Amino acid sequence: MLNIVLFGPPGAGKGTQSQLIIEKFGLLHISTGDLLRAEVAAQSPLGLSAKEFMNKGLLVPDEVIIGMIDNKMRSTKDIKGCICDGFPRTVDQAVSLDKIFANNGSKINGMIALEVDDEELTKRILLRGETSGRADDQNESLIRQRVQEYNEKTAPVAGFYKSQGKFASINGLGTVEEIFANICTEIEKLQK
Ligand code: ADP
Repeated sequence: MLNIVLFGPPGAGKGTQSQLIIEKFGLLHISTGDLLRAEVAAQSPLGLSAKEFMNKGLLVPDEVIIGMIDNKMRSTKDIKGCICDGFPRTVDQAVSLDKIFANNGSKINGMIALEVDDEELTKRILLRGETSGRADDQNESLIRQRVQEYNEKTAPVAGFYKSQGKFASINGLGTVEEIFANICTEIEKLQK
């Protein structure tokens, strides 16, 4: 299996690049943001509690996320691998994810990080908010709160993979095609 963590702050382009990666490499796309929004739309108990955090630009508690990922992995069979988009977002999530993969006789092969500066992120998310309909994309102070959560709680996750020699970073500025080409180069290295 080839399991890749696509990493980067909100608005870095993870969703866009994930779509291109799954088409080219035949991997399964798992996005915790998408899974959470589906729970919110279904008004499930998980969705109703997650919504409180999402609407404030805060991370949803680790145990909720870990349970959701575990369920997702248990219900997927015969995959070539997956793209983890939007998780792990804390070091505790990263530790749990390793355990979930180990239970399946698998592992995370590598993390690929998209680097984009904070000003560009805010601009991109506000632009996305004009068409995405996501409430959390339309309010500048909420966007800044999400970026702050990222810097405080999520950025340290890079160190977790760096210490295992599983980290690569890519410039997230440029055309979608240029960035994708650089991601492909990194994925091909992981396949060797
Ligand atoms: P973005 O990366 O643009 O912020 P996402 O769709 O990945 O968008 O996430 C939207 C919201 O869902 C986050 O602001 C957070 O509240 C919640 N969320 C998503 N993934 C996680 C996660 N792994 N851990 C905690 N909260 C999460």
